[in-house]
Amino acid sequence: CGSEAQRDRVLSVEEWLRKWSAGATAFHKEHGHPLLQKHLDLLVNGRSGLRIFFPLCGKAVDMKWLADMGHSIVGVDVSEQALKEFFTEQSLPYCEEPVPGISGAKKLQSTSGNICLYCCSIYDLSSEIVGKFDGVWDRGALVAVNPCDRQCYVSLMSSLMEKNSSYLLITVLYDPSKHNGPPFYVPECEVKSLFG
Ligand code: SAH
Repeated sequence: CGSEAQRDRVLSVEEWLRKWSAGATAFHKEHGHPLLQKHLDLLVNGRSGLRIFFPLCGKAVDMKWLADMGHSIVGVDVSEQALKEFFTEQSLPYCEEPVPGISGAKKLQSTSGNICLYCCSIYDLSSEIVGKFDGVWDRGALVAVNPCDRQCYVSLMSSLMEKNSSYLLITVLYDPSKHNGPPFYVPECEVKSLFG
């Protein structure tokens, strides 16, 4: 597939936390993602009050955008700083509580109740804990998953999807020998074999 060079590369949780505390978060965009706006219909398909999942959510402003449309948002990120910055920067009051079944995890929920962000590793989640979703917005998530964990990530995502759900995946087309990636290169053939 052309991604062999990165097969064994790993970004640890500590490295992600360090990126957040150092402000090395160029992936964060202050404005809503143009591709989400363009393809919103594919995700929503005329339905209202959907449950939408943001894996590896960071502080994506699109969570607020979709919540304001009446959808219910669930996100997960290992960085508590990212999640707290999301609520603060969006001027949303929130409360926090532990998550039964995941030791050390926290659930940060907007007071209005429609945005619920889990601070833990995504691999700690299951449909028993977060339920199932009508839609998934995957921007900067599959491409941030360590290559060795991709299969596990995709199996988990499948287990979190309702029957008639849609999954929007942002991929980036580039020459992996010229660019270091965002942060990992996921070739198209691998996207196809993973999600087949
Ligand atoms: N989707 C966001 C953030 C992308 S960067 C955006 O588009 O802006 C990837 C994010 O994944 C980082 O915020 C990092 O802290 C988080 N992350 C990395 N490994 C994780 C894991 N195993 N579980 C949950 N979050 C993780």
